[in-house]
Amino acid sequence: MTPTIETDVLIAGGGPCGLMLANELGRRGIRCLLVDAKPGTAFNPQANATQARTMEHYRRLGFAHEIRALGLPPDHPTDIAYFTRFCGYELARLELPTAAEAVRKIKALGGSWSAAELPHRVSQKFVEAALRRHAESWLTNDVRYGWMLEDFNDGGAAVDATIRPVEDGPEALVRARYLVGADGPRSLVRRRLSIEWGGATGVRRDFMGGKMFAVYMRAPGLRAAMPHRPAWMHVTVNRGRRAFMTTIDGVSEYAFHAAVHPHEDADAWTADDARAIFAQAFGKELPFEVLSVCTWMAGHSLVAQRFQHGRVLIAGDAAHLFTPTGGLGYNTAVEDAVNLGWKLAHVLRGSADERLLASYEYERKPVAQRNTAYARHFADSVGLFVAVPELEQPGPAGETARAQAAAYLNAHARLEFNIPGVTFGARYDGSPVIVPDGTTPPPDEPNVYTPTACPAGRAPHAWRPDGRSLFDSFNFEWTLLALGAAPPDVSAFEQAAAALRLDFKVVRDADAHLRDLYDAPLALIRPDQIVAWRGHDARAAPDVLEVVTGRAEAAGPRPPRSE
Ligand SMILES: Cc1cc2nc3c(=O)[nH]c(=O)nc-3n(C[C@H](O)[C@H](O)[C@H](O)COP(=O)(O)OP(=O)(O)OC[C@H]3O[C@@H](n4cnc5c(N)ncnc54)[C@H](O)[C@@H]3O)c2cc1C
Repeated sequence: MTPTIETDVLIAGGGPCGLMLANELGRRGIRCLLVDAKPGTAFNPQANATQARTMEHYRRLGFAHEIRALGLPPDHPTDIAYFTRFCGYELARLELPTAAEAVRKIKALGGSWSAAELPHRVSQKFVEAALRRHAESWLTNDVRYGWMLEDFNDGGAAVDATIRPVEDGPEALVRARYLVGADGPRSLVRRRLSIEWGGATGVRRDFMGGKMFAVYMRAPGLRAAMPHRPAWMHVTVNRGRRAFMTTIDGVSEYAFHAAVHPHEDADAWTADDARAIFAQAFGKELPFEVLSVCTWMAGHSLVAQRFQHGRVLIAGDAAHLFTPTGGLGYNTAVEDAVNLGWKLAHVLRGSADERLLASYEYERKPVAQRNTAYARHFADSVGLFVAVPELEQPGPAGETARAQAAAYLNAHARLEFNIPGVTFGARYDGSPVIVPDGTTPPPDEPNVYTPTACPAGRAPHAWRPDGRSLFDSFNFEWTLLALGAAPPDVSAFEQAAAALRLDFKVVRDADAHLRDLYDAPLALIRPDQIVAWRGHDARAAPDVLEVVTGRAEAAGPRPPRSE
């Protein structure tokens, strides 16, 4: 008989979402088995932008500094630049700090960038390798690349699944308390549950709407052959074909993506075709080694109708599909894992009710709808811009066209790439496990973030006088901030937390500025650094903790759930 592997959580998929979930669970000592059909982590670069909020989560897990050291050399510019062709006219540029500058600069920033971390420009392939290394370091984790989930059945008390080595070898049976499908866009888990997509797909644009041809290349001579200052993201804007290219290692590796015209069959394109398509964008021939070619579709803004069915949940690209403008797909996938990780752990430990898990869909689905809508807005902004033929002409007509393009693209770059509102401003208003306090949060804007401790949003950040991040003083699970010179007695919280066996810590800070920032002397911070409750005294502590762990419903009306 085939032996059965017993585990708490079976994770299908070892991309960023599955790996982050394995880290959240492993850090909490929850047994999990992760299977991924690929032989190892991603070879192709894929996502290249780790948003600031994702970096804050890597910091919470203790390895943001490792991620920041990956990818480009520390002094490599991370600018976004627009050209007619890479060797043609430069049209617009958004200058951004290098990795080395980012660490220093964030300590002096405030307002929209009140944060523990700035974004980092690094290929997903490097991030995945680091996430895998950490996931494998937890004793309770079993991480298996080269294994695929073949089938599963949710029997009510557990999920029974069959996994199989992709190459050869006998299948194995798994009995898990929960199954998470982090198995990407073609998710077997989502399809088996017959969960349909909602949203839009097939949107056509000159750029970022339709098929894209991707070339992963090694071109040691590229930087010297380009007559412009180095950048991280390079975008071409010309009548013939739109394209973009990111620097992968800051030395010789690049990821180049070109729009495919409707009559072209890019799936049949070879390495020689790749060289010809690249030469169009570059403006001249350039020798390079082709590491891989593939095609992908831009123009999706899709969110699954459900994120959970019984003991089976879906997350990441299995649950939402983005057009990559704004760089939100991988980052939204990581935040799904963060939201799900602590909830699964609490339910499995018995310190929360199963209803806590139901709040995963309630909280993450509206955020997926919000983020896909922002990505679509950015794609419309850059992809519907009409590149007139005069852009590449010398003389006054060309200069006028370039000046107009420059004004437009400089504004666009700030819209798409300076997005503290998108990254810090996602909220869980109306969640059944948040206790609202009757205040109204600031408006949701992509380029502006207004720090607020209004429950359901990210805890406001501050640098402490000793140079430490406020977030570094938070407990890994629950934190009660007791702020100001004379905060109220918090013993009711301590007793109620002990009764529920919650890992709970009180962080006291007499600083009046922090008390003002939170606009209350008490704030309860969840394990994912979301404000769950704030108030002026601790009398309601037992009721508050019942609600935030899914044991009871909060009193008062809730906004309707987004469909
Ligand atoms: C060209 C391009 C550029 C992008 N740029 C950005 C960007 O700048 N920023 C950003 O945030 N996002 C970007 N994205 C999106 C980003 O790559 C994805 O959103 C991200 O990979 C999603 O992570 P995931 O873990 O949910 O899924 P995936 O990375 O797709 O991982 C799913 C995993 O599941 C495995 N799997 C599938 N089926 C099974 C099975 N039955 N059994 C076992 N394993 C299985 C697969 O092998 C795969 O490894 C980009 C995407 C593309 C294509």
